[in-house]
Amino acid sequence: MSAPNSDYDPVQVTPLDPDQVARMVSDALAAFAAAGDLDALKEARLAHTGDRSPLALANREIGALPPAARKEVGQRVGAARRDVAAALAARQIALEAERDERVLVEEAVDVTLPWDRAPQGARHPLTTIQERVADVFVAMGWEVAEGPEVEAEWLNFDALNIGPDHPARTMQDTFFVENEDSGLVLRTHTSPVQARSMLTRTPPIYVICPGRTFRTDELDATHTPVFSQVEGLAIDEGLTMAHLKGTLDHFASSMFGAGITTRLRPSYFPFTEPSAEMDLQCFVCRGASVGDPDNPCRTCGSEGWIEWGGCGMVNPRVLVACGVDPARYTGFAFGMGLERTLMFRHGIADMHDMVEGDVRFAAAFGMEI
Ligand SMILES: [Zn+2]
Repeated sequence: MSAPNSDYDPVQVTPLDPDQVARMVSDALAAFAAAGDLDALKEARLAHTGDRSPLALANREIGALPPAARKEVGQRVGAARRDVAAALAARQIALEAERDERVLVEEAVDVTLPWDRAPQGARHPLTTIQERVADVFVAMGWEVAEGPEVEAEWLNFDALNIGPDHPARTMQDTFFVENEDSGLVLRTHTSPVQARSMLTRTPPIYVICPGRTFRTDELDATHTPVFSQVEGLAIDEGLTMAHLKGTLDHFASSMFGAGITTRLRPSYFPFTEPSAEMDLQCFVCRGASVGDPDNPCRTCGSEGWIEWGGCGMVNPRVLVACGVDPARYTGFAFGMGLERTLMFRHGIADMHDMVEGDVRFAAAFGMEI
């Protein structure tokens, strides 16, 4: 900085000329006004208020003036700097407000948009209903048993009292595994799991066996070559049809609502004796539609009952074949198709929906537990 100089004429020092100072101020104000955003304003600020700005340089020159001139010039430059600083602050506030407003608009979140763009599938209702069935029986202390889908012909038929010449053996349209004398089939029912359970466990035995089974049916609205069954088997001392009926009633009310019961009708199966068809009380009308033509029930066809499956006391010949002493133990067994259970439980009219794997079908059941 220059030393005070009494010969110095402030009028001749260009940066301190009143017009020049006024121009510095108006230049600064124009630059601030022209700054369209905070970045531009920062540049304008450095140019007009920074160390190298005209006003800063002018301020520095004041010290070189004669004392008589300093006051007036000092006041002029000081006022100019205050005006510029005030204009800068005002512009800064205005631009920040603009930015905040723009951010609110640009970064607004539309809470009505889907939060997850990747579509999620759902577990197939056949899987979830199998687990639901298993849960009912596990809660009673039963065990879930599984077996292979490619099964020994002996376990699928012979062990269950279905001999080579038994009509049931030809009635079940069986997939044989090549070559034909391999002795292997795709299991036609889940009953071989019962045989396996008896062969590998010691009574008392309480098992529930859900799984896929196979028959050479064409796929149509009510048939499918691959379908799911669930079977139950109990072997213990002193078991009777009363235990079977009580178990089925509990199963029915657990699946379809409190108070729903079952009905047994005499029937025949090679692996049970006596055998029964099992009907489920209609869980929609609970039989109220019977004889009431004004209030028909679609679920049961106004019959009051729905065919659900088969059951009976395990044939002693099956117990013997599977190494259980029929003099000491008795047992009961039951089984039902899961597709059919799902169809009437949810009013599904066509088997295709269940087997074609369209995720939109399963998604409708996504909340099933
Ligand atoms: Zn009904």
